Amino acid sequence: MTKFSDLALDPKVLSAVAEAGYETPTPIQEQAIPYALEGRDVLGIAQTGTGKTASFTLPMITLLSKGRARARMPRSLVLAPTRELAAQVAENFDTYAKNTKLTKALLIGGVSFGEQDKLIDRGVDVLIATPGRLLDHFERGKLLLTGVQIMVVDEADRMLDMGFIPDIERIFQLTPFTRQTLFFSATMAPEIERITNAFLHNPARVEVARQATASETIEQKLFSFTPSRRDRSFTEKRALLRALIESEGEACQNAIIFCNRKVDVDVVAKSLKSHGLDAAPIHGDLDQSQRTRTLDGFRDGTLRFLVASDVAARGLDIPAVSHVFNFDVPSHAEDYIHRIGRTGRAGRQGRAYTLAVPADDKYLSAITSLVKMDIPTGEVPEFSAAPERPRREQDDRKDERKEGGRSRSRGGRGRRDEAPRDTTPRETAPREAPREALRTEEPAPVVSEPVAAAEAPKPERREGERRGGERRGGERRNGRRDDEAVVGMGDHMPDFLTRSFKTS
Ligand code: AMP
Repeated sequence: MTKFSDLALDPKVLSAVAEAGYETPTPIQEQAIPYALEGRDVLGIAQTGTGKTASFTLPMITLLSKGRARARMPRSLVLAPTRELAAQVAENFDTYAKNTKLTKALLIGGVSFGEQDKLIDRGVDVLIATPGRLLDHFERGKLLLTGVQIMVVDEADRMLDMGFIPDIERIFQLTPFTRQTLFFSATMAPEIERITNAFLHNPARVEVARQATASETIEQKLFSFTPSRRDRSFTEKRALLRALIESEGEACQNAIIFCNRKVDVDVVAKSLKSHGLDAAPIHGDLDQSQRTRTLDGFRDGTLRFLVASDVAARGLDIPAVSHVFNFDVPSHAEDYIHRIGRTGRAGRQGRAYTLAVPADDKYLSAITSLVKMDIPTGEVPEFSAAPERPRREQDDRKDERKEGGRSRSRGGRGRRDEAPRDTTPRETAPREAPREALRTEEPAPVVSEPVAAAEAPKPERREGERRGGERRGGERRNGRRDDEAVVGMGDHMPDFLTRSFKTS
């Protein structure tokens, strides 16, 4: 059996790996590290949970150990699709580079430019970034990518889902042709194949299956019920959720509770809290420091329930999550796989419970055909929608009103979750067969549901990254800089307001 010490890694990296408690490389590490150390481009087909982060971090640290960083010219670049994933890579880097003098900077939205600029100005060996924020820095003239010797693209399939591929292509073009590229994706959609053909040079292709399939370690159950009245389904689902949590007792050490819409994430978290359960929300509209605090609390066990949207919780590597509750049946079948894969990680047992009402039937049949099995039916515990603590009557009325509002405005702007769904043909091109679903934890999305053009939500390409006036600076529209604020209009200034009045 290969040991880390058999791989030609820097002794300082080996000691950090040993201190982290790892002896044997995972299959993706065993395969990818030797190629990466030879300086070859690597195309790694692997999901989160396989140890892929170390498979590029360890050789990077080894290769960068010689040489020094120059001001504003990072020597390597890691691109990750979300802030949380970028932060996770940065944590890995801290763990494995702790015995070296290498420096890093993390460029993600929601953090002030000033601090990040200072780090870049000093010169960094490793720059870890989300694509939007990286280009923001580049366009502000604060960053040169011509010194990049190693470039990593992590979770390329999610980059595709989030509409980042044009940004990735642009970033590739800004880095030297001679760079080494380590490119990771869970699946190889045609668009990803095209990028790798265009930008990777004779890559070594390494591929690993997920270590344990979802079905082996995750006990899935479906709890279906018919609400007493259609407009009470949201309230009654909250009561059922509490009853399920209660009936699980101590077995439910912690849980991620998924809702389809950001607005419901907040309401469900508040409702659990008001019933004495320790819950906090996470979604793209919350500011970064709050997201980080919430995630840290959930990771270290001080927070028991994380109520989440799909995008905010994707790819998070939190090894010990005992339960996942799908408060809503996901309307995109592939999200079911993403969600339940948050539990039963690293060989642990996990439970994934889905709450359903009759209106969810069509979504459930899409899920069962994707996972190629019926989700076993669980016995619905007795639950009462009556609040456990005396709530003011108007609280409930408010909820009911909200619910009525929801069904009326379904699909309307602002009510959908931020899960970025690009409905253009490019994004919905046929992807890998759903056959892969159970083997690969996070399969490529199947063609999205058609959304009427007028209703189609604008894909939120950069979840959270444009908040707080963080638009890409310098872009001109109708002669006006995009970053010029218009008082009272926020970012949403109608185009006609910027047109010239001249009639020439
Ligand atoms: P990743 O796929 O990079 O998200 O890693 C998944 C988990 O596996 C992380 O919690 C890592 O700390 C852990 N891990 C990485 N390499 C190894 C290894 N060689 N042996 C055991 N666990 C590992």
